[in-house]
Amino acid sequence: MTLSSLGINYVYVVCAALFVLGLKMLSSPATARRGNLVSALGMLIAIVATLLAQGLDYRWIMIGMLIGGLIGTAGAYFVKMTAMPEMVALFNGSGGLASLLLSWSEYHHSPAMAPFIALVTALSVFIGGVAFTGSMVAYGKLAGKISQQAVVFKGQHLVNGAIVLTAAGAAALFYLKPDSLFGYLFFVVMILVALVFGVTSTIPVGGADIPVVISLLNSYTGLAACAAGFVVSNNILIVAGALVGASGIILTRLMCKAMNRSLFNIFFSGFGTTTAGAGSTSGVQGEIKAASAEDVYYILEAADSVAFVPGYGMAVAQAQHVVKELGDLLEANGTEIVYAIHPVAGRMPGHMNVLLAEANVPYDQLVEMEDINPRMETMDVCVVIGANDVVNPAAVNDAKSPIYGMPIIETYRAKTVIVLKRSMHAGFAGIENALFYGENTRMYFGDAKTSLQAVVAEFKSGN
Ligand code: NDP
Repeated sequence: MTLSSLGINYVYVVCAALFVLGLKMLSSPATARRGNLVSALGMLIAIVATLLAQGLDYRWIMIGMLIGGLIGTAGAYFVKMTAMPEMVALFNGSGGLASLLLSWSEYHHSPAMAPFIALVTALSVFIGGVAFTGSMVAYGKLAGKISQQAVVFKGQHLVNGAIVLTAAGAAALFYLKPDSLFGYLFFVVMILVALVFGVTSTIPVGGADIPVVISLLNSYTGLAACAAGFVVSNNILIVAGALVGASGIILTRLMCKAMNRSLFNIFFSGFGTTTAGAGSTSGVQGEIKAASAEDVYYILEAADSVAFVPGYGMAVAQAQHVVKELGDLLEANGTEIVYAIHPVAGRMPGHMNVLLAEANVPYDQLVEMEDINPRMETMDVCVVIGANDVVNPAAVNDAKSPIYGMPIIETYRAKTVIVLKRSMHAGFAGIENALFYGENTRMYFGDAKTSLQAVVAEFKSGN
């Protein structure tokens, strides 16, 4: 069975509508799960329709889909929530590599290309190659396989500039005569240069900037797929690639805004090279006041308003369910409860929203940073659950701090702050946090889940 070329475009319009609808639904926690399914359905229809329209021998394709599907399913089931960004980086890299290979194989099919096709082929292999190795570096940094610190060396900008010029030169020479031996040579040079550039442009980024880079690389992968869509004349690949490219750029901009950094600053400042190591406490003065489960119970029991501020440690401890349980107990006690969400808390965009949704926290109790900060002084208690960088006051009052200017949830302005963490170790950015020494701060040391279970037990026993 084959679909006519007119028929398939009608199917593609439906698929494109499903993608757009799915993306729209992803923008709210209440509809995000269904949005994912809607987009996945669009992609399934697009794949089946494309295969039917081509009238191909499906055997090899089926084997590829089966192997890829099994790897994807196993990954989705077994990967830890905290390792999700690494998985996203790996998937992203695979997308870039797929575009590169697709355009490369098309070139072998018909090297005598029209100028426009030569142009989009060059774009697809270059951007795909950069997205592939860039994502592998981002994966290595997130997974701790390579140093998370920014790697900078003298003359780095010159080296990167020379690489880009080489790529542009090779692309121009390929474009002029794609079907000659020289054309092929320059094509291969372009691929090699793209792979190197992916590494050299990503290694100078470190510390807290990695999420932004992953989002940008995601956008590159979309653009590479879009260009590959032109190479193989497939309309839905063009649309899907453009949507991924555009949404990746939008997310990148939002994240830059959330961290108050420009993209230029992220790629060229070498942030992360000079920050203090984990556990460093130099420079911050004050006394640490430790609290027990019983102390925390008394503070919370007397509070009229409580803001939970979750961070990466909540994900590590898998404390979201017990946080919700404590929230319910407080509500039953007549306390106003909100969950204050920082846009880059955790290790991926929306990380905290996903975890709290899993624990059935009502969406109307989630408040964004912009909404909680103006009323912070009126909050009786802020319970910081494994968050560190996103509540670090250095971002507001220490102009020398590497995170200076990054918007934070200003818990230090609340009447009382309870911080749940295991030690005095630093967070992702590797810098110390004066909040822990604040007059109004109580440190409740221990694994967040175990600590909160103890507080819940205090509540249940009515102490
Ligand atoms: P941080 O990484 O700054 O801090 C997490 C804290 O959690 C640590 O200080 C750690 O302290 C504590 N912790 C770890 N395990 C536990 C546990 N089991 N129980 C209790 N506490 C625990 O997290 P934030 O969420 O505050 O900030 C996120 C950081 O990650 C930002 O710098 C952001 O830029 C970056 N990032 C964000 C991404 C995103 O897209 N959201 C992606 C990648 C990075 P201790 O060891 O003492 O317990």
